[in-house]
Amino acid sequence: MTTPRPFRWLPHEGQRHAVCANSTVRDEVTTLCGGELVIPVTRPTKAEWCWPTCLSCDAAWRAAEGIMPFPRKASAGPSRGARADRRGR
Ligand SMILES: [Zn+2]
Repeated sequence: MTTPRPFRWLPHEGQRHAVCANSTVRDEVTTLCGGELVIPVTRPTKAEWCWPTCLSCDAAWRAAEGIMPFPRKASAGPSRGARADRRGR
């Protein structure tokens, strides 16, 4: 079992936006790009799923997906691997 994603795509006004995965119909939600919409009662049509992805939502989603599974940052400061404390006699 994989953990459910925190967001899901929802076609809205010509683009597919990412909204909270826990949202249900008639919920007022904020998209990842900052827009507000109400979850429609009717399911999106096939044509609507073909709408272009909202780039702002996509970027926000990527950032969230990239951070959450791997909390540690890539920038790992100065390496302490090299031991320079060779003790001279
Ligand atoms: Zn969006």
